[in-house]
Amino acid sequence: MIPEQDLNNRALKVLRTLKQHGYDAYIVGGAVRDLILDLHPKDFDVATNATPEQIKSVFKNCRLIGRRFRLAHIYFGREIIEVATFRGSHESAEHDSHAQTADCGRILRDNVYGTLEEDALRRDFTINSMYFDASAMEVVDYAEGFSDLKKKLIKLIGDPEQRYREDPVRMLRAIRFAVKLGFNIASATEEPIKRLSHLLSNIPPARLFDESLKLFMGGKALATYEKLCEYRLFQVMFPLTAEAVAKDDSGRAQAMLVQALKNTDIRIAQEKPVTPAFLFATFLWEPVRQLIENNTNERRSENEIYYEAAEEIAREQAQIVSIPKRFSMPMKEIWRMQPRFMSRSGKRPFRLLEHQRFRAAYDFLLLRADSGEVDKEIADWWTRFQEVDPAQRSSMLIKQPKKRKHSRGKHNKHGRNKHLPPQA
Ligand code: ATP
Ligand code: MG
Repeated sequence: MIPEQDLNNRALKVLRTLKQHGYDAYIVGGAVRDLILDLHPKDFDVATNATPEQIKSVFKNCRLIGRRFRLAHIYFGREIIEVATFRGSHESAEHDSHAQTADCGRILRDNVYGTLEEDALRRDFTINSMYFDASAMEVVDYAEGFSDLKKKLIKLIGDPEQRYREDPVRMLRAIRFAVKLGFNIASATEEPIKRLSHLLSNIPPARLFDESLKLFMGGKALATYEKLCEYRLFQVMFPLTAEAVAKDDSGRAQAMLVQALKNTDIRIAQEKPVTPAFLFATFLWEPVRQLIENNTNERRSENEIYYEAAEEIAREQAQIVSIPKRFSMPMKEIWRMQPRFMSRSGKRPFRLLEHQRFRAAYDFLLLRADSGEVDKEIADWWTRFQEVDPAQRSSMLIKQPKKRKHSRGKHNKHGRNKHLPPQA
């Protein structure tokens, strides 16, 4: 069923070493699923009856990690093989310090060890619950995973509602695997999602950030986004975006989002780099833009208005999905650079061109222009400004009319606010 040459040598070595020390060990989860489907596994996970401490005593290149879910990482240069001890059921250990469940049923700590069969039944989907025994070249399948794989079915093990309450992230995983594999979600697994989607808001924001990368950086961002919206999950993860896009009658915000997701998928297919900073910038742009529009205020400079809107939206979003600084800083910078594209005279365009974040901010401008939010003529000007011989750039500058001493224009008094995004 699984050709030997497809197996990862490091994972095989881990299995062999554990066996030599008298433990059981299997390749498990996504790797087994992907190998049977003839896909390339992203990573190889190992499950064993050895405890984390026992694993550590067997491998020199091993570190124990995690509190909520303690496991071992075995290092081979940059490659890591994750080794987890079989988990048992929580029911038998309700008051144990190794297991902890919140009032809503969410599992907070999952360090109760158990047998292979118990481990199989506490995994999320049947297709993720197969174990490969490399010495016997045999798949151990307690949850009818193989049959569901053949039926192309994403099916939770056990009672779906209870499993989602234990860990609401499983709702996101159901969508992710359905899109990634082109499978259907079994009806009983599908049914509770819309009803329980709000439970996602109890998940630590850092974990939701990790999940959002898996959702949108896997090469099928657009299809994933559509499914997440259908099941009301996107609305819980990105409520500001959902509200702002719904408010925008022009349809431009939705068009920009869809285009950004398509571009991400194309870039990943071409193995070009994608940065979460840019994707999050597009997700949150409409809320930022609307806030800026509402804050158009004579007493504050355009810079201030952009700065504060960027901070406010980033801060609010971080309550649900936290974006690490290394992405949120460039994200905010991309937004704050947008008005600078409106100046096409004097030294300013040259300074902008030299900016380290110019490329990302320009790509962002193109998206805005494509959706109709910004004049296409402005985006085209910037495209040409980069392409022409540097010596010719000065000739492209737009002559500014001489400033009149007593401008009557409400917003033009100090050249402020005139570059704000157009009204929706
Ligand atoms: P991917 O291709 O994204 O790596 P995967 O199935 O390997 O998919 P991982 O997140 O690497 O997913 O998890 C490895 C395995 O751990 C899963 O196959 C599943 O058996 C189990 N697992 C992961 N997350 C959960 C969860 N939230 N609840 C129950 N089991 C889980
Ligand atoms: Mg995996």
